[in-house]
Amino acid sequence: MSDDVKNIMVILSSPSGAGKTTITKKIQQKYQSFKISVSHTTRKPRPNEIDGVDYNFVSKDEFQKLIDEKKFYEYAKIFENYYGTLKKTVDESIKKNDLIFDIDWQGTKQLSKFKNLKLIKIFLLPPDKNELKSRLIKRNQDSPEEVERRFKAFDNDTLHWLDYDYIIINENLENCYKQIENIILNYKNTQKLSYNSVSS
Ligand code: 5GP
Repeated sequence: MSDDVKNIMVILSSPSGAGKTTITKKIQQKYQSFKISVSHTTRKPRPNEIDGVDYNFVSKDEFQKLIDEKKFYEYAKIFENYYGTLKKTVDESIKKNDLIFDIDWQGTKQLSKFKNLKLIKIFLLPPDKNELKSRLIKRNQDSPEEVERRFKAFDNDTLHWLDYDYIIINENLENCYKQIENIILNYKNTQKLSYNSVSS
């Protein structure tokens, strides 16, 4: 990707169930410049998920082929499934749009190595561990075993918050969304100012 791309990439990571998918979708609905980066995954679709919209659902063999062909900017194994971000998708969309990534800490670490990507890294936390468990159960998307597995990953996931630029506690979805919106708008405004001053 060339260095003169001015659009930004916002990464939202969190332990599973902390609210990032809802916030990601809200940002995209409000700001048409933003597109969500649609990952590839070997996970089976949930009943409400659409192939090509929520994820590109692929088999393990297809995913492995993409790894072998070095097609990913980043990929990770999470809860027994693979998830990854294709270089092609990012390089094409970033020319026209700002991008928002709903990826985990492993992917964030890998993307951070590409120094030419303009990343804003935000880590969302639930107010406490018990709240996380009740959200995982309430959203009713995963089996009890899967909920337990995701809940157990909390301690390890949160170890990585220091790799992020901002940490936000999602006590109230609307407040949390506003904080993220402010971060993004400030960043975009600062960038605009610096571009103006370079070009003037
Ligand atoms: P879920 O199965 O709940 O959709 O996602 C599980 C985890 O995978 C979430 O933490 C989500 O952020 C992460 N994830 C989704 N897509 C990607 C990706 O392309 N790369 C990485 N590293 N993580 C991803």
